[in-house]
Amino acid sequence: MNTMLASAQTIIKKTAKSLGLSDYSIERLISPERIVEVNFPVAMDDGSIKMFKGYRIQHNSARGPYKGGLRFHPQVSYDEVQALATLMSIKCAVAGIPFGGGKGGVIVDPKKLSQKELENLSRAFVRAIAPVIGPDVDVPAPDVNTNPTIMSWMLDEYIKTQTLDDRPKTKENSLGSTVQGPRSKLYATFTGKPVDNGGSLGRTEATGRGGVMVLKALLSKLDHRHETRDHRPELIVQRPQTVDRRQESRDEGLESKVYSLGSTYSPGSMTVAIQGFGNVGYYFAKIAQEEGFQVVSVSDSKGGIIKTMDDRPKTLEKSLRSTVQALGSTVQALGSTVQALGSTVQGLTPLDVSLVIQCKKERGTLAGCYCAGGVCDTRGGQLITNEELLELPVDILVPSALENVINKDNMARIKATIIIEMANGPITEEAYEYLTKKGVIIVPDVLSNSGGVSVSYLEWLQGKKGEKWTEDKVNGELKDIMEKAFKSMWEKSIAKKISLKQAAFEVAIERIIEAMV
Ligand code: NAD
Repeated sequence: MNTMLASAQTIIKKTAKSLGLSDYSIERLISPERIVEVNFPVAMDDGSIKMFKGYRIQHNSARGPYKGGLRFHPQVSYDEVQALATLMSIKCAVAGIPFGGGKGGVIVDPKKLSQKELENLSRAFVRAIAPVIGPDVDVPAPDVNTNPTIMSWMLDEYIKTQTLDDRPKTKENSLGSTVQGPRSKLYATFTGKPVDNGGSLGRTEATGRGGVMVLKALLSKLDHRHETRDHRPELIVQRPQTVDRRQESRDEGLESKVYSLGSTYSPGSMTVAIQGFGNVGYYFAKIAQEEGFQVVSVSDSKGGIIKTMDDRPKTLEKSLRSTVQALGSTVQALGSTVQALGSTVQGLTPLDVSLVIQCKKERGTLAGCYCAGGVCDTRGGQLITNEELLELPVDILVPSALENVINKDNMARIKATIIIEMANGPITEEAYEYLTKKGVIIVPDVLSNSGGVSVSYLEWLQGKKGEKWTEDKVNGELKDIMEKAFKSMWEKSIAKKISLKQAAFEVAIERIIEAMV
């Protein structure tokens, strides 16, 4: 069993046990309702026909149609798809949207296919899974290496399987036109479609936007928390049973930092570092900056950038670091002070996210955007590694690229007070526990990156109703969904003195069980 599946099942079992659920319910919560494995032929450009293997795993439909992406990747496996389908059930439930969880994928390296072969593969896969999908049954979406164009091909192929529509394509009945009649309801079979072919405005930005909404919801709670000190979630002060004095003083330091951070909350005074500058990381950075946060570092697979005011802070940092080293064990107790000084010492100044993306587009990588002595947008910029980004002395850390990047090797060096998990599973279990005990507030991926699936739900709804909403309406609906979801998780965390992750799983599992009953 792969680690993602094992850890998804472990936390579900643990949560279900703490809720006092029966063995039968636990078994039902971890077992997919339907597993579809397909082997299908695809015509290649050289005239040959090749067989491919794909999966669609439908985990739980108690709350509504299965929902989840389709990925094309050589490492797609049965276990991975099952883990992702399981987590989709949790994610949709915690977001409070009426979907169950599903996931699919094909074992293929799409980079080795021509555009025509990619289209043939997409269409052939949909023909193979057509009997088990549909607007009220299972609603796929893009995922790794699939995109709106692929969704259009899939939708077109799916409609053919349902309507045997052999009319010649004309302007009126081809994809891209407004489709009327019975075919139009089939549009809701896929989400993540291009906007001119039934897609929703706001979908592209939705995951990053939802993450920033969650961050703001968290800060508004912290803002009030100093008034209700006794009603804090246990995660802030979850101390081990036996703590030595050194550990205790460090925890107190972090706790008071969280309090002071919360009570003086203002985005303009809070620094953010974001690992990953793809769909999720870029929009998180852009929208966080629009909301007034100081985005001081971003990275892609080739590394990250920061911008310092001048050389003086670096000299200061160097001398502070050597003093800190000389202080030896006292350093532990000084941890939070050093952290508070972090941004000043580092001399980090905000990046201009719109210039950074423009530069990345021109130069290919963020690393290419640093030009020493030249006149470029990130003048004063420095390159840092992805590992260094994670350890920057910032208020908010946003891993938005890969899984397991915060682990036992670097957990002790993480300095952020808040982590918003935007990638799936960026923190290992061990690191999650360590950081939570240390007082770091971690908003779990199942909630913080659920903005994407939430707008997929809004796209599905528009498809079902034959409506087209403005971007403002979509964003307003998304805000409602994210804030309600955050509130449920937060209140559960406070009421039961459990971590936000545990609370998110409890909320989700209670909702699924309620629907199953
Ligand atoms: P993407 O492919 O658009 O971007 C990924 C980014 O990560 C790129 O900037 C890439 O350069 C960077 N990256 C790759 N390897 C890296 C490394 N070793 N170190 C640092 N950065 C690295 O992907 P995305 O859609 O932005 O998804 C990012 C994460 O968010 C994934 O875990 C994904 O599963 C999760 N997620 C995405 C969505 C969505 O709607 N796109 C929704 C939920 C969860």
